Amino acid sequence: MIKETLASIIIGRNWAAPSEVSQWFQPIRGHQMARAAIENACWDLTARVRNIPLYKLLGGTLKKIPCGVSIGIQDSPEQLLEKIKTEVDAGYRRIKIKIKPGWDYDILRLVRRHYPDIQLSVDANSAYTLADIDLLKCLDEFNLLMIEQPLSYDDIIDHSELQKQIKTAICLDEPITSLDKARKAIKMKSCLIINLKLGRVGGFSEAIKIHDYCYERNVPVWCGGMLEAGIGRSHNIAMSTLPGFRIPGDVSASKRYYKEDIIEPPVTVNEEGFINVPQVSGTGYEPREDYIERITVRKEVFSV
Ligand code: MG
Repeated sequence: MIKETLASIIIGRNWAAPSEVSQWFQPIRGHQMARAAIENACWDLTARVRNIPLYKLLGGTLKKIPCGVSIGIQDSPEQLLEKIKTEVDAGYRRIKIKIKPGWDYDILRLVRRHYPDIQLSVDANSAYTLADIDLLKCLDEFNLLMIEQPLSYDDIIDHSELQKQIKTAICLDEPITSLDKARKAIKMKSCLIINLKLGRVGGFSEAIKIHDYCYERNVPVWCGGMLEAGIGRSHNIAMSTLPGFRIPGDVSASKRYYKEDIIEPPVTVNEEGFINVPQVSGTGYEPREDYIERITVRKEVFSV
């Protein structure tokens, strides 16, 4: 998409504000990740040219962001408890565990017995349907911060039905691909919380619009992760400084996913579970060009 379409739209053009780039891409349907890759780079570039931190250019206010982690389905309950212990000891402020049929009620009861007070949320990645409503109601007893995407990946209608019947806040993830989708989900009361992912919504311009819409309506948002390497991770940090990001996100340290990150310094989380937001120009993280060159398998160069 970048090679065939987006590069030719942007090369040789100037912008006063990087949100213009988002407008140039507006006629393109879908392809949010490719659009986000280019648009977010333009935001970073603009911040560097103006010599201000990227987060300030976005309108962010937080100087440090609270971090959580996401823990996948494990081979055994013991293994899950061990992983949770590692992350809680590392200072992370919210633990999210993935659930699916057969790895839900009993697992949560076990986790709550060991950790009655941690901020705990679950992500079902669309593993249930409305036929599972009795089980989903039972999860109310675990005082979860939220249940993320219990039903189909593109649904907002059944979620609205489910939210009426459970106390736990539903958080939508996959269906929120634009401001329009967020507006409809909130209007239908399909969720009380939104997981905002830069790559999923097509870049900072759309993410800011969704954030502002939710902020005005008191709907908390938080930043989900898509296993970003350092550059994407640094963009997530900048976005998470907007005032509506009140819940710890899935933005975690580089070393949680990568032996070596492609940026320097690597992203680190302090013992209190916060990432300090860099107060220098751009993202505050530099790409390690030598290292990137060494691990590159394919390359495209676009010139004017
Ligand atoms: Mg999710």
